[in-house]
Amino acid sequence: MTTSPFDLTGKIAIVTGANTGIGQAIAVALAAAGADVACVGRTPAEETVAEIRALGRNAEVISADLSTIEPVGRVVDETVAKLGGLDILVNNAGIIRRADAVDFTEEDWDAVVDTNLKSVFFLCQAAGRHMIAHGGGKIINIASMLTFQGGIRVPSYTASKSGIGGLTKLLANEWASKNINVNAIAPGYIATNNTAALQADEARNKSILDRIPAARWGDADDLGGAAVFLASNAAKYVQGHILAVDGGWLAR
Ligand code: NDP
Repeated sequence: MTTSPFDLTGKIAIVTGANTGIGQAIAVALAAAGADVACVGRTPAEETVAEIRALGRNAEVISADLSTIEPVGRVVDETVAKLGGLDILVNNAGIIRRADAVDFTEEDWDAVVDTNLKSVFFLCQAAGRHMIAHGGGKIINIASMLTFQGGIRVPSYTASKSGIGGLTKLLANEWASKNINVNAIAPGYIATNNTAALQADEARNKSILDRIPAARWGDADDLGGAAVFLASNAAKYVQGHILAVDGGWLAR
């Protein structure tokens, strides 16, 4: 029997921010493709773990606050100890703070950049060291439309997501020869807790929908297929790519 190039059976993944939204959807999609998943984050991802175990895959909750880099080594060590290895890292955890650039505070800058960029790099480093020592792996960073565009009133978010784009390419350059694929996914407007206020604002919601060629918000589940692809052998020659999953937003 021919194996699907998207089959993740026997692979072990870390997904950060796996208790809700995009991270939860990606964790479950990876498990549906065959992977076991370490669900990492501040809020224990009990529901995600239960969903994954119902699919017949193994999953573990790993508690970590990624607003500092202190836990990154432990996250990798615990994943290897509890699940038996590490083949796939999905850096999904992220936050946003909104204010005009002229009023933006250092606290709001540091909180976002530390979580969305600094911890992402150091988790890539910790996972990359393991992957290099064990023959390779796949790293997927969750970027944004603001990896490509400026946005408004979100300076630290834009800087962090723009930084993710550069970092993804740098790591792809350095680690392609180590059999590690490093890529990113740039979600468009996806209906999650993160965007609940935008959806609830009638005027804002209408202007967003008018601008999306698909004329709807994305579901978190819309990200699952892209993550499975980039985590799989089907993507073995895809390096440093930022894959937009945006209902056509960037095509407009
Ligand atoms: P949610 O707010 O629904 O989920 C964010 C996740 O990140 C939660 O699991 C949250 O955990 C976790 N997280 C936040 N801070 C930390 C921290 N310090 N340590 C550990 N985990 C943390 O967001 P989405 O699902 O919408 O977003 C997921 C990713 O996708 C983010 O990187 C976001 O920037 C990106 N994105 C989202 C878009 C959208 O339209 N929704 C568009 C473009 C990009 P907890 O619940 O404990 O806070």
